[in-house]
Amino acid sequence: MTQIQDHLGIQELLGVYALDAVDKVERALVDEHLRGCAHCRAEVKEHREVAAMFSADMEPAPERVWDRIASSLGTELAPTRLADVVPLNSESRTISARSLTWVAGVAASVAAVLGAAVFSQSSQINDLNSQLVAQEQEIASLALALDADPLQQAVTVALDNPAAQIATLTADGASGAMLIVVLPDGTGYVYQNTLDQLPDDLTYQLWAVVDDKVISAGVLGNRPDIVPFHIDPQGLQGLVITQEVSGGVPQSESAPVVSWFDA
Ligand SMILES: [Zn+2]
Repeated sequence: MTQIQDHLGIQELLGVYALDAVDKVERALVDEHLRGCAHCRAEVKEHREVAAMFSADMEPAPERVWDRIASSLGTELAPTRLADVVPLNSESRTISARSLTWVAGVAASVAAVLGAAVFSQSSQINDLNSQLVAQEQEIASLALALDADPLQQAVTVALDNPAAQIATLTADGASGAMLIVVLPDGTGYVYQNTLDQLPDDLTYQLWAVVDDKVISAGVLGNRPDIVPFHIDPQGLQGLVITQEVSGGVPQSESAPVVSWFDA
């Protein structure tokens, strides 16, 4: 092997040698050559400076990152078998040239993949943040909605309806004891009650006076809070509350506790 052939063959190994990616045999070969070749020594030094510039800013990539890089390259990152390069012939040159290209390709891909990963992570974090904000807002409005009793909400809506009729049921000479709102479609709510709580075996019962007939409009329980009911809105003349046995009665013979009549 002449010095010239040696020099040409070795030159192709210098980049890999500078990255410490050669095996023992290759290292020995290159070391031996470098002792006698200032040109190659300078080239190795240059390679190492470039490599140092790269590695100075870069933390060693965690294994998982390397795995992802490897799979995105479709290449195994196991060290290439450069032992086959020796002896240096035309075929081995092709192989070592390819491995240099491979090393450069990996460096470029590492930079690209790391950059892309950082970018995609920060945009993912942005996405997650705005998702979180949206979810928090959703939760807040859900909490508000849950907070308000649906019946209370229905009463609020009914009271907002300008066509709603509000009946104040009173005992003779007393102030308002029960408030009822009735909508044009006959939907109504007992929504405010100051009547005494009854024993468990008794109940308040609501009666609608329609076309001079008294029709049960609902059993309100012994301590009515908000109670929905439905009546025929046509011909409504009055509303009456009686006190009955628990469960209510089909027809009342009791005296009204409180009542309201359309003027
Ligand atoms: Zn040389």
